[in-house]
Amino acid sequence: MAGTQQSASRSHCWTCGFEAPAGSDRWETIDVVSLGTMTRCPECGSTNVSSGR
Ligand SMILES: [Zn+2]
Repeated sequence: MAGTQQSASRSHCWTCGFEAPAGSDRWETIDVVSLGTMTRCPECGSTNVSSGR
């Protein structure tokens, strides 16, 4: 296990810095009519969240 360090994909909130695995149920999801499902930060309510991919 030398060398490659492949972390599980994580998402983080650009607004408050909250971080959790992408797709984890720690994130809230909301449905937006024009955009589909978005991830929302449970800490600050921002949808400005990096998608782990
Ligand atoms: Zn946040």
